[in-house]
Amino acid sequence: MELWYTEFQTPNVGITCKTKKTYHTEKTEFQDLALIETEQFGRMLVLDGTVQTTIEDEFVYHEMISHVPLFTHQNPKKVLVIGGGDGGAIREIIKHPSVEKAVLCEIDRRVIEVSKEYLPEISCALNDKKVEVLVADGIKYVKENKGEFDVILVDSTDPVGPAVGLFAVDFYRSIYEALKEDGIFVAQTESPFFHKDLIKSVYRDVSSIFPITRLYTCAIPTYPSGYWSFTMGSKKYDPLETDISKIPDLDTKYYCPQIHKAVFALPKFVADLVK
Ligand code: SAM
Repeated sequence: MELWYTEFQTPNVGITCKTKKTYHTEKTEFQDLALIETEQFGRMLVLDGTVQTTIEDEFVYHEMISHVPLFTHQNPKKVLVIGGGDGGAIREIIKHPSVEKAVLCEIDRRVIEVSKEYLPEISCALNDKKVEVLVADGIKYVKENKGEFDVILVDSTDPVGPAVGLFAVDFYRSIYEALKEDGIFVAQTESPFFHKDLIKSVYRDVSSIFPITRLYTCAIPTYPSGYWSFTMGSKKYDPLETDISKIPDLDTKYYCPQIHKAVFALPKFVADLVK
């Protein structure tokens, strides 16, 4: 018998994948968690029925949330990831030789533990000596750590449950304060096709706090609509002015110096969201 997994991405659209095996399911303190094997995308982490990451396409999201801000900053030493318990963003961050410390602040211990067990390709850097893993609410953590970080990444779930506050203007203010005077932050901000209002409101809120606000996009097949956005708030550095000739060759599959600039060229309907 064939088994298929469907995520209802909106009330009217879904993505359906043929599955081979279910490795694990549980109800954690915060969410329903599942780890399944799909034919097309390999192992897939699902939280509350929503695809978080898959072995086949995770590189796009994790490279793009990390390298764009880290190479925009001239010398990132201390980096914070909020959410991101799968460890993919941390894996990319520690590829940067300037980084001395990367802190992961994930609210759900079980996401970290299950990722370590079933997604070693993604979680492999979580035991690195430069990495500190905290099981805590990112909203509280940023409030308590002012002026600490060069770069902060908000690698969150969709704005439901414990992640609702990660899309709020008060949170962006706390992030601003948790950054050093030349700090940068990036948040994943959903699909330009399906989440137009969210992108508009995050951009408005971030630009009310940060002097430089930029939106960039990339293609991720397992996320709603396959087209995803990230919003950057920066105190000093503008990614459009990055000298890409100075970007060293990293071990990446999506990010490259040309992509660093190209992703900020927005299709007209996306540019209109943030005019
Ligand atoms: N790449 C993914 C995506 O866009 O679908 C996100 C991956 S990561 C698994 C998201 C993580 O954010 C989840 O593990 C969730 O537990 C965590 N999270 C949600 N709210 C949080 C909060 N307030 N503080 C820290 N982590 C949070």
